[in-house]
Amino acid sequence: MQDSHGRTVDYLRLSVTDLCNYRCRYCMAPDGVEKRSHQEILSVEECVEIGAAAAACGVKKIRLTGGEPLVRRGILDICRGLRAIPELEELCLTTNGSLLPALALPLREAGVDRLNISLDTLLPDRFSSITRLGRLEEALAGIRAAEAAGFQNLKLDTVLIGGFNDDEIQDFVNLTVDHPWEIRFIELMPMGPCADWERDCFLPGQTVLQKVPALEKITSQGVARRYRLPGSAGTVGLISPLSRNFCGECRRIRVTADGKLKGCLHSRGEISLRGLHGAALETAVRKGILQKPRQHHLEDRPSDTPRNMNQIGG
Ligand code: SAM
Ligand code: SF4
Repeated sequence: MQDSHGRTVDYLRLSVTDLCNYRCRYCMAPDGVEKRSHQEILSVEECVEIGAAAAACGVKKIRLTGGEPLVRRGILDICRGLRAIPELEELCLTTNGSLLPALALPLREAGVDRLNISLDTLLPDRFSSITRLGRLEEALAGIRAAEAAGFQNLKLDTVLIGGFNDDEIQDFVNLTVDHPWEIRFIELMPMGPCADWERDCFLPGQTVLQKVPALEKITSQGVARRYRLPGSAGTVGLISPLSRNFCGECRRIRVTADGKLKGCLHSRGEISLRGLHGAALETAVRKGILQKPRQHHLEDRPSDTPRNMNQIGG
């Protein structure tokens, strides 16, 4: 359905947990999140019910996210339940990849169509430093497991951080020469732990084109401007929420792991979906779509949301 600014909303990002086995410096506090009781987090049944209500409102694509969705107990049941919704065209999942060696095949069998795997550096020491708890080899093993399980068109999501990984841009782009992956460079957004980071950390996506002038423009996909090295197997995507605000093309709504519908990642506005079923749930989702804010204000100030990214899902 359309929101009140004439945008078609057909994409739901559903967070299934705010917990994570990593503590990425820009996303989470070092000591993680306070563990919440089971009742505070959406049950498997609620996740599926919300997915079905969203589909009834015109959502065609659902992405599961978190926190780390693969630490969520019942994740395969959630996938199976969502996949059984007839109107749903695509079920995707964003993960740090660390648990894919055990879960890639079960996820495929549970009906997940596509995976995005986050990878901010190709250097082991940097990887451990930015994730605080992770090892690069885990993420690389996850990518291999995803391919072995038959996931195609993998997208690798790299948050651009000035002074951290801008010297690796060429190395990331080189991965697309032999691998049919899309390397997606995402601008760091000022929120939660990184809201007050130095300005130099926030690089525009254009930096990638300056560092790799050989990239040639190809068709855009969703909010990603896309490029390719001539003759390469894969592609490069630039997602630039700050330097090229794409709010006018935004098709998304979000639901947090505690059941709050957000029309915009960066707004304070939330509608609670807990305890709602059937027609009442659908009405609340419609209301959330209609109230979707026109745009964020990251150009002027840090994100308005008091939540960290792990509590929304990216
Ligand atoms: N744990 C999973 C992962 O890391 O892929 C899924 C959740 S994570 C919150 C989703 C995405 O948001 C990741 O690619 C992460 O790098 C990105 N992210 C987190 N904080 C961000 C920020 N401040 N700006 C831009 N991207 C951010
Ligand atoms: Fe966890 Fe993903 Fe946040 Fe990193 S970005 S701390 S992996 S939720």
